[in-house]
Amino acid sequence: MQALLFAAAIAISIPAMASPDLAEKVWIHGSEECALNRDPPIDIFKFDPDTTILRQNKCVNFEAPFIYVLFGTQTALVLDTGATRDAKSFPLYDTVQTLIAERVSGTQSQNLQITVIHSHGHRDHKAADAQFQGKPGVTLVKPTDKAVRQYFGFSDWPSGLAHIDLGGRTLEALPVPGHQGQDIALYDERTGWLLTGDTVYPGRVYVKKWSEYRSSIARLAAFAETHPVSAVLGSHIEMASDGTLFPLGATYQPQEASLQLHVDDLSALNQALQQAGDKPQEIVTGKVIVTPLNVVQKVIGTLLKPFGG
Ligand SMILES: [Zn+2]
Ligand SMILES: [Zn+2]
Repeated sequence: MQALLFAAAIAISIPAMASPDLAEKVWIHGSEECALNRDPPIDIFKFDPDTTILRQNKCVNFEAPFIYVLFGTQTALVLDTGATRDAKSFPLYDTVQTLIAERVSGTQSQNLQITVIHSHGHRDHKAADAQFQGKPGVTLVKPTDKAVRQYFGFSDWPSGLAHIDLGGRTLEALPVPGHQGQDIALYDERTGWLLTGDTVYPGRVYVKKWSEYRSSIARLAAFAETHPVSAVLGSHIEMASDGTLFPLGATYQPQEASLQLHVDDLSALNQALQQAGDKPQEIVTGKVIVTPLNVVQKVIGTLLKPFGG
């Protein structure tokens, strides 16, 4: 375990400007004994000076979601706020402020606005909203049907595409309901990243509405075919690099799979879903496992209820 802690320490000490390889990134991934965990509550990965990925420590909350912070010249966009409300054990707002301070210490504007949006409304993606609520310069878009449609201007949900201008950096948002109800995917033109929340990630994706999910993945795959997508990045890792799932609720995940998926993985998932047709069923592609929620409920009953997924 000491060796693993040491490995994690090396991984997070990569200099911010070294253009570290996202595919090879070893994230902090919990401990066999969380009482002994000495990792920071948030792993900070600066992909480039304007683009940071945060990962919550599994010993703070087993969901260990990923949070994306994207800077434009006017606005810092925060996609999701993680699984823990408490600012002491999970100082997300302070971390974002530090990122802003580091970035604006040069010639950049001090008056950067913060916009907080969500991949969807499950608790493990919005718990620290309270840390941002009411803070100066913060626009917090709640992950409700009404607020999401209103903010993005989706008048014919789940059709349409919304543009977000951060100042010199444009994002596109696509409705992708199915895992939950208000799910969106974000495409960042600058990095070519397609951020897919809990809709596509290396792990078990629970699907609430099968037909909606199939349509969403078809739209995502079509979008990816017509845009330069460098990486498909979701909000969790629940799989080892050999494709086996870690146990539900695991707080220690050695040899995690890469966070980074590709357009081919999305295409394979789309193909499998289209072949499966209307009947909800488990889909296993090697990179993503899709499980319809009604089947899960029959099998594991109340076990799933405490988990927001
Ligand atoms: Zn989640
Ligand atoms: Zn979810």
